[in-house]
Amino acid sequence: MSVAYGTISDVRRAPTILHLDMDAFFAAAEQAAKPSLRGKPVVVGGIGGRGVVSTASYEARVFGVRSAMPTAQARRLCPNAAYLTPRFHVYRQVSEKVMALLHELSPLVEPLSLDEAFVDLEAGGVADDAASARAVGEQLRRDILAVTGLTGSVGLAGAKMLAKIASEQAKPDGLVLIEPGTERELLGPMTVRTLPGVGPATAEALRKAGIHTVAETAEAGEAELVRLLGRAHGTGLYAMALGRDDRPVVAERDAKSVSVEDTFEVDLTDRTRVRAEVMRLADRCVQRLRAAGRSGRTVVLKVRNYDFSTLTRSETQRGPTDDPAVVREAAGRLLDLIDTTGGVRLLGVGVTGLADFTQEDLFAQVATERAAEEARLVEEARAVDGAAANSGGEEAEEAAERPRKWLPGLDVVHAEYGPGWVQGSGLGRVTVRFEQPWSAPGRVRTFLVDDPALSPGEALPLVGGGPDVPPVADEGAHPPITSDPLRPMAADPPSPTAPAAPTAAESFPPAAQSSDEPAIRPNSRSADPAAGRPTASSPASSASVAEISSR
Ligand SMILES: [Mg+2]
Repeated sequence: MSVAYGTISDVRRAPTILHLDMDAFFAAAEQAAKPSLRGKPVVVGGIGGRGVVSTASYEARVFGVRSAMPTAQARRLCPNAAYLTPRFHVYRQVSEKVMALLHELSPLVEPLSLDEAFVDLEAGGVADDAASARAVGEQLRRDILAVTGLTGSVGLAGAKMLAKIASEQAKPDGLVLIEPGTERELLGPMTVRTLPGVGPATAEALRKAGIHTVAETAEAGEAELVRLLGRAHGTGLYAMALGRDDRPVVAERDAKSVSVEDTFEVDLTDRTRVRAEVMRLADRCVQRLRAAGRSGRTVVLKVRNYDFSTLTRSETQRGPTDDPAVVREAAGRLLDLIDTTGGVRLLGVGVTGLADFTQEDLFAQVATERAAEEARLVEEARAVDGAAANSGGEEAEEAAERPRKWLPGLDVVHAEYGPGWVQGSGLGRVTVRFEQPWSAPGRVRTFLVDDPALSPGEALPLVGGGPDVPPVADEGAHPPITSDPLRPMAADPPSPTAPAAPTAAESFPPAAQSSDEPAIRPNSRSADPAAGRPTASSPASSASVAEISSR
């Protein structure tokens, strides 16, 4: 080791801390699922008036679109991108596969979000020097691609902060290893914004003092930084500027918890009172959690009974939360599992699996909310479908009057054309692109929103899903009504003799059934799927398509 290394003694001597970050995760997953979007700008996020961008594909970033930007602003910057509502159930499935690969490397895996985690390779015994760490990182990237069909970037360094900076440098689809001893040289010219905890306000305070780069930050010295930023922040920033970061990789189960509990002078027997106390404790717990600037995944309920027997029950969320509603609801569900009829002496609510990240936090929060919203919309659509397909004429009519939410990006299946996804909707019509992850780019067709042949669909696997599912025929007898604004379609549609209906019929018998029984929807112009498509290149269909893309 070089002499200079002595100044950064808190960095371990081998680059065995790995930081994985999937590349443009949500957008990449959508491109993998939707062949027509590959190589195209894709923006995943809230698509409503006040929506915010979750992830932009690299093609969209070229136009300046960024995460956390209002979607309206993104649309101005990149009007031709596909704007899709998130499909969190898909991203979670992919995330679980990625995290499983990481756990094969080490018991010390610290997830930061669905697509990002630290791994201590040394603790896992899989690497103890630069060469072995690099080999593990490269193999991991290959495994992730094979298992998920998506790329991730890997940073390797002797400290978490540096590993994260390295993975950022590696993007997209790369690996960067920072040799211990080279940190200061590497960090020096970088903007001070590179350092953890330096947001716009801190950067502005530093800029006024003439400090722009990491090297200038280190040169300013600890005393000057403390004077500018206060003791805690100044001291921390000085250490970071020197590349010092001795924070360990913390597996979730080792993380501390935040909890609150109350003992009652008189045993509680009233179930309503018990529930009210649990809700109150949940709120207090979240207050503490937020005061500590933290969030956690696992909600724990503790109940001590009249006889001093103590029970704990826990529920792990998909991502870290500090949302009082999420903690309250989880605690409420846990309470449902416990018999309190004998009387309760003590109640406690805790959150464990803590993480001290901030931006990822918010992100996970948004994820939770969006997932709930998405699930609700899908449920609504299903309920309408069920009513339309299984009931008599009158009820079907009533159901048809309820608007169905066909959000762009969501999976659908058509009784005749098979699986596809919503490209856009508006003015009573929905445009669907019929393609699968393993197919060539598919064609778009437009239907009435209440077309009985159209149902919400299941997400298709991104890898390994092709062979079992027959390609969907795209008969020349039914030319697409809307011109395709996205791109010229594949010149050769799949064979017209390929079976089209089985997939749809198996997945959604009600939809298939209703398309066979047009009498069920007496007021529908679209009982016959072919007749359901608009008969001209109507403003409705072009408007709905324009929502997605019109390049
Ligand atoms: Mg990422």
